[in-house]
Amino acid sequence: MSEKRLRIAIQKSGRLSDGSFELLKSCGLSISRGRDNLYGRVQELPIDVLLVRDDDIPEFVADGACDIGIVGENVAEEDRLAAKREEPAVVVMKLGFSRCKLMLAAPKEWAWDGPSLLEGKRIATSYPGLTSRFLELAGVKATTVMMNGSVEIAPRLRIADAVCDIVSTGATLDANGLKPVATVLESEAVLIRNVATFSGEKQQVFDALLKRIEGVIASREAKYVMMNAPRSALEAITKVLPGAEAPTVLELAGARDKVAIHAVCRESVFWTTLEQLKSLGASAILVLPIEKMMA
Ligand code: ATP
Ligand code: ZN
Repeated sequence: MSEKRLRIAIQKSGRLSDGSFELLKSCGLSISRGRDNLYGRVQELPIDVLLVRDDDIPEFVADGACDIGIVGENVAEEDRLAAKREEPAVVVMKLGFSRCKLMLAAPKEWAWDGPSLLEGKRIATSYPGLTSRFLELAGVKATTVMMNGSVEIAPRLRIADAVCDIVSTGATLDANGLKPVATVLESEAVLIRNVATFSGEKQQVFDALLKRIEGVIASREAKYVMMNAPRSALEAITKVLPGAEAPTVLELAGARDKVAIHAVCRESVFWTTLEQLKSLGASAILVLPIEKMMA
């Protein structure tokens, strides 16, 4: 193990892995995987990639076996609340993929009117830390029953009265006679890091990677917008462009009162935005994707 190479833990296969590999790829990193498929080496920067189960990632990062990791906020937060580590991994930034919700679900026949209905009840979950925190904040005293999978069958087996689990479509809950009743956490993939200071070289690699990740995330929504417009509409048009800083204004050959306006919009550009621009006198409006961005 080289001290100088930054070690990143990502999920080997599952609902985080495609997004994690894609993000690294968008950062210009190609990973050559080892034969055992547990380990990858990045060509372009001194980075090693460990391919592991998502549940292990917070621990690996907290104890320094890896420097950074990509994991669901649900798993990172649960580790922070329940694993009682002296120095848990720190969330650096949200990454915008693998979005899901951790939800409380109760039997369909319950007339749900708020968390107080759970008073004195048993709740099956793989997330006892997050569930207990939710109940505490709601002022409800209930017991959590830890289960590592198939949480939704617990009420049918009379192991618990309700459950707290990751919900995507709700079909699994429905098939087990349950309905989602409250959101405990809205989760997405996050980048986590070890609390300790990195060595000089490692810090440089980390900074470079972070800059690239920020660039990738910023450019996902960002668009380059171009149009021709009356010079007099410049101010009104700038207000309509979502998340744009000072636009570039260019002369149009042979036109005195018309200019070309170019702007980077950092937020989504919708059809309604284009319609507004049009009504302000803009024409020949073009919206182009941005591949890379660096502030
Ligand atoms: P592993 O084998 O690595 O332990 P797993 O089966 O525990 O994997 P996955 O189902 O791959 O985990 O989910 C990993 C993470 O992806 C979850 O912790 C959550 O953050 C997110 N996730 C879960 N369900 C969904 C979903 N339906 N859509 C998007 N992301 C999800
Ligand atoms: Zn897992």
